[in-house]
Amino acid sequence: MKMSKLFVQTLREFPSDAEVISHKMLVRAGYIRKLTSGVYNYLPLMWRVLRKVETIVREEMDKAGAQELLMPFVQPKELWEESGRWEVYGKELMRLRDRHNREMCLGPTHEEIITAIARDGLKSYKQMPVNLYQIQSKFRDEVRPRFGLLRGREFIMKDAYSFDTSQEGLEKEYENMAQAYTKIFKRCGLNTKMVQSDSGAIGGSVSHEFMVITDTDAGENDVFYCDSCDYSANSNHAVSKLPTAKTVGDFTKAEIVDTPNTHTIEELCKFLNIPPSLIIKTLVYIIDKKPVLALIRGDKQVEETKLLNAVGGIEIRIATAGEIVEMLEVNGFNAEPGFIGPMGLKEYNGYPITIVADETIKELKNFVIGVNQIDKHGVGYNFNSEIELPEIITDLRLVEAGELCPTCGQPLKVTRGIEVGNIFQLGTKYSAPMNAVYLDQNGKTQPYVMGCYGIGISRTAAAAVEAHYDDNGIKWPLAIAPYHAVVIPVSTKDEEQMKVAEDIYKTLLKHGVEAVLDDRDERPGVKFKDADLIGFPYRITVGKGISDGVVEFKVRETCEMSNITPEQAAEIVITAVTNLKG
Ligand code: ATP
Ligand code: MG
Repeated sequence: MKMSKLFVQTLREFPSDAEVISHKMLVRAGYIRKLTSGVYNYLPLMWRVLRKVETIVREEMDKAGAQELLMPFVQPKELWEESGRWEVYGKELMRLRDRHNREMCLGPTHEEIITAIARDGLKSYKQMPVNLYQIQSKFRDEVRPRFGLLRGREFIMKDAYSFDTSQEGLEKEYENMAQAYTKIFKRCGLNTKMVQSDSGAIGGSVSHEFMVITDTDAGENDVFYCDSCDYSANSNHAVSKLPTAKTVGDFTKAEIVDTPNTHTIEELCKFLNIPPSLIIKTLVYIIDKKPVLALIRGDKQVEETKLLNAVGGIEIRIATAGEIVEMLEVNGFNAEPGFIGPMGLKEYNGYPITIVADETIKELKNFVIGVNQIDKHGVGYNFNSEIELPEIITDLRLVEAGELCPTCGQPLKVTRGIEVGNIFQLGTKYSAPMNAVYLDQNGKTQPYVMGCYGIGISRTAAAAVEAHYDDNGIKWPLAIAPYHAVVIPVSTKDEEQMKVAEDIYKTLLKHGVEAVLDDRDERPGVKFKDADLIGFPYRITVGKGISDGVVEFKVRETCEMSNITPEQAAEIVITAVTNLKG
């Protein structure tokens, strides 16, 4: 490719609406252009990168025994009603109607469609196991589309679905996919960590995510991990051994005491001269319009995904101060948020109030709790005495760094990660309600035991930029770079420089290297800037040194430069590219 012909427009500045590195770089270097919120044009350079990621994914999925197919992007409501997800999938599901007023949606994922395909053709145990996958655009009307390709509304995903006759079969395929994923990300030049995670809206019990560990702002997940053993988990799923704290209060009798102006846990601790671990905090949430109280020990925080799972909800938000006052009022209390407690709160907005407690409250004795009276708290309270033990008690706690590993007891560390892929054991979550069954050895019908496995193709490409860049631009891993090398004649008017540059370019092409010849009549500084910004892994510059028989060779990843012969330069690049294929 000649640079003069390459369809790329680099920008002098980073786009003003971009917050994270990959978004800034990909726009400035001419890879993507925004069409509308969360929707991007993939320009030629980007499309080359995406196709390379796809090829790696395809090769490893095929090697792992999966078969590729392609399902439609538009999906009928009926199948989503069969699975029960039409009602429960939130606003991320882009719903639409056709001219006959039939309801449809844009595919955010394809469990319903693949299950219907299997139901249609997978009739006997003899046909299993099977793993089917596709690479396709998905649409999710994300609440906060941001970070460019990392969280788009339209994005490219590889989604695979396995069908087995038993849990053991599913576990075997799950492990097979875990290994394929490890290879895929390694080939893409990415270091990933496989971490335990929550199964979210897709459902199922066991799931893991593949995280690119990053210290940039782009990591939307907190990952807790242990250096002493291999425990690692997304914060939405992480557990820890609870550090010991004072959980038995010194209050000798249960009573309501004055606690003026104690709106926060800190103020209350200071006033009563107690540690926060003796207080039960009552947090008010609105989950799918319904009021939920979460009780937790005062020194700990609630993990919202865990709370959602505890009540089987989808959308969660913390209640406003106004809502809390109103809730207290309709239940007969004249109080304020800082003094709320679960006693006597029955209903709000036409819904009964659900109370969920974290396990940490169970061991508390003679504790302190809000009693729905301004400037007062209950002290020396106990469960099954002054107050009932809530019906739902489960793990709601957000783990903190330094707490001890649930497996080996060493302190946990935390880092941020970008989720590039995940694997789920679905079991019969879709096959059972959709009556997707096969005949087993005894001629009995059984629902398939399913797994599903996703990789964000476009997110993986963007994550590669988050992991490989410097102030001057992108440093693509060779395997997914749009081109492997750029050859730059310093002066296009210099016949000898031009001739050597063209020779190197042709040699590279002949040996399967994807090379660009920067034949533009531009100042060398401009060409170097573009080369760094675009992120070609290798740069061969032909300048005055050619009279001594040398060119300047630059490795983008390390920024190392050397003066070597044109043959040596070509040889290094050819060998590196050949090794990629090998
Ligand atoms: P997230 O928690 O980041 O929203 P998810 O759990 O919704 O991800 P899945 O539904 O399992 O993700 O989708 C599989 C893969 O698709 C993810 O691992 C991720 O790489 C990618 N992906 C999901 N949502 C987006 C998005 N909005 N933009 C780009 N890629 C995405
Ligand atoms: Mg999501």
